[in-house]
Amino acid sequence: MPVNRTPAAARIGRLLSFGLLPARCIVCGAPGHARDLCEACEAALPRNHPACPRCALPLAVEAPACGACLADPPGFSLAAAAWRYEGAIAQLLPRFKFHRDLASGRVLGELAAHRLVDWPGWVGVERVLPVPLHRARLGQRGYNQALELARAFAAPRGLPVDLRSLRRVRATPPQTTLDAAARRRNLRGAFQADPQTGIVLLVDDVITTGATLAEAARTLLRAGAGEVRALAIARAP
Ligand SMILES: [Zn+2]
Ligand SMILES: [Zn+2]
Repeated sequence: MPVNRTPAAARIGRLLSFGLLPARCIVCGAPGHARDLCEACEAALPRNHPACPRCALPLAVEAPACGACLADPPGFSLAAAAWRYEGAIAQLLPRFKFHRDLASGRVLGELAAHRLVDWPGWVGVERVLPVPLHRARLGQRGYNQALELARAFAAPRGLPVDLRSLRRVRATPPQTTLDAAARRRNLRGAFQADPQTGIVLLVDDVITTGATLAEAARTLLRAGAGEVRALAIARAP
């Protein structure tokens, strides 16, 4: 026998089922999945392997370091990215970064933490630091995407997230049109750090050339960090 419900009760029922039932896949829109990403879309994500262990640059074959790291090692000693910046990752990350799609960010952070669970660089890490945004940028965007990801990486390991001791003190123009040397000049003095100790892990959403992470790492090393390592969701080829 059908149950007669008041409009309000029906509405609450709809809200409850919306919250409890599996969501649609954030990539293909297929309904009825236990996670926000369906199995087929998750399996199709472009794994970043093999990659340079030092800077996470995608490589064709496994190697101890890429040519760029051999010629000019970055300030960080190890880096990894869960995926290459292509395919569904190139759709999802901008949604998270620029369009407040926090569901995409949460899913990507959790999946990346899972994917990188065996990364050798976890050993000895004491604190996780998101790459900070300048406060003007933070004001425009309303959130720091790197902080959300740092939380996703740190939580399963019980590591503290440190969002105070590294700051972006200079707003830098967008890097996309600059070559490597110009990016480095552009970033000089962009960060400031409180005194550091031990092994720290920097987290960013995408490693494009590595120039931002390298400048942040240099700042942390100058402030006393014993070693800096880096993690990201994706690495540009
Ligand atoms: Zn899907
Ligand atoms: Zn490299």
